[in-house]
Amino acid sequence: MKYAIIIPDGAADEPLNELGGRTPLEAAHTPNMDAIARAGKLGTVRTVPDGFESGSDVATMCLLGYDPAVYHTGRAPLEAAAQQIPLSASDWIFRCNLVTVIDGIMKDHSAGGIPDSDAKRLIHDLANALNLPGFEFYTGVSYRNLLVYRGDAQFDVTTKPPHEIPDEPAGKWLPRGQGSEILRNIIERSRALFAQHEINVARRAAKQNPASQVWLWGQGHAPAMPKFAERFGVGNACMITGVDLLRGLAVLMGWSVEEVEGMTSFHDTNYVGQGKSTAVMLDRYDLVFSHIEAPDEASHQADYKTKIASIEAIDKHVVGPVLEKLKTFPEWRVLVMPDHPTNIATRKHGYAPTLFAMAGSNMESAGARAYSEPAAKAMGLHMEKGHELMEFLLRSRG
Ligand SMILES: [Zn+2]
Repeated sequence: MKYAIIIPDGAADEPLNELGGRTPLEAAHTPNMDAIARAGKLGTVRTVPDGFESGSDVATMCLLGYDPAVYHTGRAPLEAAAQQIPLSASDWIFRCNLVTVIDGIMKDHSAGGIPDSDAKRLIHDLANALNLPGFEFYTGVSYRNLLVYRGDAQFDVTTKPPHEIPDEPAGKWLPRGQGSEILRNIIERSRALFAQHEINVARRAAKQNPASQVWLWGQGHAPAMPKFAERFGVGNACMITGVDLLRGLAVLMGWSVEEVEGMTSFHDTNYVGQGKSTAVMLDRYDLVFSHIEAPDEASHQADYKTKIASIEAIDKHVVGPVLEKLKTFPEWRVLVMPDHPTNIATRKHGYAPTLFAMAGSNMESAGARAYSEPAAKAMGLHMEKGHELMEFLLRSRG
């Protein structure tokens, strides 16, 4: 059996006045997604359980068959997994942003999108100056670094993502709770060290935001996720994505990660390349998971035209070729679903159930008319526990 899972990130939405009361999925021309909905099962599914923030990390973990209430331990551990950093169960992983705080105000969570080379030098110099036993810094892309703690100290801290507190007093949102004094100390010492660092002198001279300090957040232990093969009996799987959090999930599940040239988070991404690669990988793997970020980014920009264009590009260049390829195998199944809604009206991720369509050999039509939110609601097939959907995809017959 061959399985293809295609995720147009954030494609689900609400009806929009600009579209005459239709959703972007309703307005988009999507013959291939419609064909899947008509040939098989169409329904709704809750991928963001109560008490969780709506985000791709939570929603994707859920739709992959892992209950976030059991397995979601934070954002930093997933990014550490994506970077293949070896982790044991007792290690703590923190996101360590380089940020710009001016006169006590959080001005920029990305320190002006600082280049990798500058970020590496600052983090390297900080690690040397601190020389704290048990703490290891790992540099990533630009401002996105990680701090791993392997030691006996216990943490029970509340932290805040810096992108959620723009123009707010940074001091108000410093880590709080058990163990927070160590973290505050690291932040404080970075401020002293970076103040006159030559990289920041140069950045200020070039009118770029300086990396005035680090900011620690998103902490957690590595999630103890059983491998996908153990859980579902399908071991030979790969993920195609441009997003680090999803790469981390793939690593934790024991999947391969495949890259596509020109893949980005935006509408300029290489749809054609991703469609070709997804189809080709079906020869090599039994399950291929292909994730496209563009509809989500367009929604955050409140750009419904680009959202529709990206949905149409995914339908034509990814879903179409993958469907053709699947039909060359005797047994196959396909699932197309946004991980969560991202609403044009609010520019934020939504909490409503998302929609899914699956079809394949041995699967009968339930009589759906098209791939859209209202059509999915009308079918009356709803899964309240999103982590049960994977079992349904892999095991259901007919
Ligand atoms: Zn998402």
